[in-house]
Amino acid sequence: MSEMTDRVPGGLPAAPDERPIFIEADNLVKIYQVADLEVVALQGLDLLVRQGEMMALVGPSGSGKSTLMNILGGLDVPTAGRVRVGDYNLLEMSRRERVRYRRHMVGFVWQQTARNLLPYLTAAENIELPMALAGFPAAERRARAADLLERVGLRDRAQHRPDRLSGGEQQRVAIAVAMANRPALLLADEPTGEVDSASAEAIFHALRALNAEFGVTVIVVTHDMTVATRVDRVVGMRDGRTSTEILRRREGDVAIHEEEYAILDRAGRLQLPEAYIEALDLEDRVRLRLETDHIGVWPEHRAHGPGAGNSQESGHDD
Ligand code: ADP
Repeated sequence: MSEMTDRVPGGLPAAPDERPIFIEADNLVKIYQVADLEVVALQGLDLLVRQGEMMALVGPSGSGKSTLMNILGGLDVPTAGRVRVGDYNLLEMSRRERVRYRRHMVGFVWQQTARNLLPYLTAAENIELPMALAGFPAAERRARAADLLERVGLRDRAQHRPDRLSGGEQQRVAIAVAMANRPALLLADEPTGEVDSASAEAIFHALRALNAEFGVTVIVVTHDMTVATRVDRVVGMRDGRTSTEILRRREGDVAIHEEEYAILDRAGRLQLPEAYIEALDLEDRVRLRLETDHIGVWPEHRAHGPGAGNSQESGHDD
């Protein structure tokens, strides 16, 4: 992740986002029981996502990204905490509600291209299938499939089976399949993990087009650090929590302003970037001091921290 910018104090304030909160995760915990061991995949994760946002989740392997996606997709249930998507409370759904949620609220795209599409159906048939299961009439299915293929840039591939499409094209068909039943939320777990960079570009382009056209909220998990240029917001995860955010304000297709933030959770917890911790040799405890417009953080062992006297600081004992 890029260096946390020192432009923050003088930087432009981000414009307030007026869109309603669509996803609200509060102190979310997921513990997997493996034999006698407990694996804590999410440990008190907080996340707010606004309706119509296009955001990326990044973070090292094992930081809990897939666990969060599976919970938001209604495929897995959290151990504790709260999580709401639209009107659905994901901790307290009945089985029927869960089925309805998965069928109508969310579309899912997996990293493994083969997992997204049925090999013996054409691209158009793959897109029509979820609509057929949901009971849409044939004419509507056909029109919707054609429209979605057009939007992901694959109009001329409608009659191709997956084995005649490139990996990147298969992922774009998979995105169209996920959008078939007009979900409010589109989740893509490493959709560009198995394709080259030109195909990744086309996949992000397709996601952006659907986001802009239908207002669908999009969350993409990715390892691709250049993703920041293609989404509104990048949320970094570490150890089962959200830790940093890069916000980007755009004007049309041109990004105009980018800033990296640390996330402050509701309990007042903050994760310092690893590079900062190493640079100042921080460990165990730090000294804090509240100033009028910022908070100073000093290593405990530094002689010139607050309370030790410092010509640049006001220097009285705390
Ligand atoms: P990421 O997607 O960021 O790589 P995951 O959500 O897959 O992270 O995993 C977070 C942690 O939870 C890891 O320690 C992983 O081993 C563990 N984990 C994930 N899924 C399971 C599972 N089904 N059973 C046991 N442990 C799991």
